[in-house]
Amino acid sequence: MRLRNIPRAGSVLDACKEVVKDETEYRGRWREIFGNPRPIHIEIGMGKGQFLLTLAAKNPDINYIGIERYSSVLLRAVERFQSEGGSAKIPAQGKLPDNHAPADKPGISNIRFICMDARNVPDVFAPGEIDRIYLNFSDPWPKDRHAKRRLPSREFLERYRRILKEGGRLEFKTDNRELFDFAVEELAPAGWVAEEITYDLHGDDRLMEGNVMTEYEEKFSAMGNSICKYVIRPSGNRS
Ligand code: SAM
Repeated sequence: MRLRNIPRAGSVLDACKEVVKDETEYRGRWREIFGNPRPIHIEIGMGKGQFLLTLAAKNPDINYIGIERYSSVLLRAVERFQSEGGSAKIPAQGKLPDNHAPADKPGISNIRFICMDARNVPDVFAPGEIDRIYLNFSDPWPKDRHAKRRLPSREFLERYRRILKEGGRLEFKTDNRELFDFAVEELAPAGWVAEEITYDLHGDDRLMEGNVMTEYEEKFSAMGNSICKYVIRPSGNRS
């Protein structure tokens, strides 16, 4: 993704109540932010947000958190959220801190955003706090010496394991076959097992059921690229 410094990013993100700024403060308390005990799903590297915003609108009973490292990219997701009627009414039982109380108007109430590097997820979420993790079209970091920066690497899988609830799952999609092969090879040494693997998601009617396209998925599948996907869980965790 081409990155540009966008001067208004800081002020727009600062002013958006759904962008959680003091994220480590809420470790173990994310359900307070949402004001309900519903499951929490996160997307790491959300980009411009199409995937997560679509899921949040479709599934009001699930809470979503989008994590993106660059403010200039998160800005695009937040502006899209705001133009789609974001900033919503939170249920009455919600005990939201004042600085996170969304405006009183209808819209999507079940999504929050964090601008951070995903390597810090164990500082932001308590053990077992997250029910599902999505990685979509993660940056490939093709040089071997950068393998640890790849979001499906064993180093990151260890971080994800620490925050995932018993019975939780991680889903990863990409059109990059080298990255996907690497990700599959990382599973056993990292202590994860695959429940589903496909090298042609769009040709698999069963796995396509309920599939929500990301920006990159739309672009690369339109170019004729096959989309790979796995669904994984820590080994020994079957529920
Ligand atoms: N998921 C979107 C999609 O499928 O359309 C965007 C894919 S884009 C290739 C990858 C995104 O992941 C970029 O926006 C990048 O900034 C973000 N990213 C990469 N490494 C990250 C990290 N360590 N922490 C948070 N975000 C990261």
